Amino acid sequence: MSYIENNLNEVRTRIAEAARNCGRQTKDVTLIAVTKTYGVDVINEAIDLGVTDIGENRVQEIMEKYESVKPVRWHLIGHLQKNKVKYIIDKVELIHSVDSFELAREIDKHAKKHDKIQKILLEVNVSGEESKFGIRPQECEELCRNISELENVKIEGLMTIAPFVEDEKILEAVFEGLKKLSEDISAKGIKNVDMNHLSMGMTNDFQLAIAKGATMVRVGTGIFGKRDYTK
Ligand SMILES: *Cc1c(COP(=O)(O)O)cnc(C)c1O
Repeated sequence: MSYIENNLNEVRTRIAEAARNCGRQTKDVTLIAVTKTYGVDVINEAIDLGVTDIGENRVQEIMEKYESVKPVRWHLIGHLQKNKVKYIIDKVELIHSVDSFELAREIDKHAKKHDKIQKILLEVNVSGEESKFGIRPQECEELCRNISELENVKIEGLMTIAPFVEDEKILEAVFEGLKKLSEDISAKGIKNVDMNHLSMGMTNDFQLAIAKGATMVRVGTGIFGKRDYTK
């Protein structure tokens, strides 16, 4: 068994275990294999092993890899600049990192040109760390209402990145916070806004995130190993 096959099996087992432990179904949690810094051969190997969704955090990397990667759903999970929307609009299934109305409007504009309704998540900085992108939780409702007016953008849920800590209490509070926020928004019944998805949980914390309601987990290192940023 290859290194990646072995890792993938382990991640899938742990997803199934976390889902079972809280009475959820494995199929309700999508594994997004985070492929940043990895080459197309490795990515195609993962796809051959059944990976259906991959996540990249840089527009540039999506463009470099797109033609050589086998058919798969692409997710943009990193910060997106307005001037780069045009490069990825025809390529991505879901943009996880929308954090302003101006960005959503730019996405709407380009989605229109491609006759597409672009699905997005709003990135929320639940932990309040200054270094993080994302809106503050209290800004979420208003942003949802504003974006709901855009015809070619569809809000499908929320995304967060937990702080890089080991304290499970802190991590759980962040995941619970996002879940609670999505329930609050959902209860407002804003047209054209659905809270179907919670994108939360990475290699170190995806089981906790699943216990708190994650429907998408973004796992890189756990599948592909340590990233080499020197290349
Ligand atoms: C890199 C990255 C991940 C994956 O992180 P791992 O710890 O390697 O699993 C998840 N989400 C985002 C937004 C990332 O940039």
